[in-house]
Amino acid sequence: MSLYEECPQKYKFRYIERIPEKPRHFFSFGSSVHSALEFFYGVKTLPAPSLEEVLNYYRQNWISAGYKDKVQEEEYFADGEDILKRFYQKHISDFQIPFFVEYKFDFKINGVPITGRIDRIDKTPDGKLWVTDYKTGKALEKERVLTDGQLTLYQVACEELLGAPVARLSFYHLPTLKEQIVERHSEDIVSDLRKKVTRVADSITQGLFEPLPAEQKCRWCDYKILCPVYQDRGRKNGTPTLKAAPEITQNQQPAEEDLPALVDQYGQLCELIRSNQEEAQQLKKKILELFSKKGFVRAFGKKFEVNLLEEKSWEFSDKKQVLALIKKAGLYERALGPRVERITEILEDEKLPAQLKDELAALAKKTLKKDLKLNSLN
Ligand code: SF4
Repeated sequence: MSLYEECPQKYKFRYIERIPEKPRHFFSFGSSVHSALEFFYGVKTLPAPSLEEVLNYYRQNWISAGYKDKVQEEEYFADGEDILKRFYQKHISDFQIPFFVEYKFDFKINGVPITGRIDRIDKTPDGKLWVTDYKTGKALEKERVLTDGQLTLYQVACEELLGAPVARLSFYHLPTLKEQIVERHSEDIVSDLRKKVTRVADSITQGLFEPLPAEQKCRWCDYKILCPVYQDRGRKNGTPTLKAAPEITQNQQPAEEDLPALVDQYGQLCELIRSNQEEAQQLKKKILELFSKKGFVRAFGKKFEVNLLEEKSWEFSDKKQVLALIKKAGLYERALGPRVERITEILEDEKLPAQLKDELAALAKKTLKKDLKLNSLN
């Protein structure tokens, strides 16, 4: 619902056309810290897990996706550890097993199916509920807790499904360990939420997915390259167009003299290729690691298969000595130069005298290059 309100076109790309967004480091970071807290509060009986156990869980379940590079990932990892240590020190003395941790709900508002997950629900001494939502972002908007739609939704879900009134709602900002706490949202706020749910559901049913562009939103939107706003803008006013990559391959390039548009399209495609290449390399690395771990040489997806390719190569550290050995053995001509490939060929020759082979091998470092061959199964 919040995505539809942010931009209906973006909602359509994400949930109707099911085009996935790129992984984002801040989502990975939030999930990693959340799951460590779920582990902390998720025990069925006392005592609470030790700090070492919580940190171990955090390390073992760290999500690496979406970080710019190793340095950025390490910085975030350290921030997460620091948050968990401080959180633990602050709360271990008042540790209590919550009523629910990561409570998944599924219900209807005015006939509209709603699903979600609540970080933590506690019971107050008088049997009411206290809903907590953890936040890991850099800053938390002041007084957001007063009217936040997500918390109102949690309140409605709890009261309908758990049969107890909600007494308090809170946002817990983990980086600062500060909490914004309010009493349950008023009936007016709840009524507005119900109306909003109906309105959004009606718009989706009617197929209303008007884009809602805004510089800050669109700058980070993964669908910009597909978004009609940016394609139309280019056609209407001659400003640099931002057409989607597939259209370029369909011979619909801007006019040859439209240099700004060509520059933008070129830059955008280069960015797309670079980011896709980075992702593909990471996936390839993961597959190769799994192949090594499990001893596989072939694996299948639904649409593709991959086969392990192994390429043996030798690196010679002292080329002069190699040359001398080759010449002495009367094989200089055969090595033509001699080039590494030809020396490798000689080295692999079964008829090569064993002593020469050993002497050459002692000067070389053998490496096994691994790659994957990708085939479409269609
Ligand atoms: S680029 Fe902007 S207008 Fe287009 S889908 Fe994304 S957020 Fe919406």
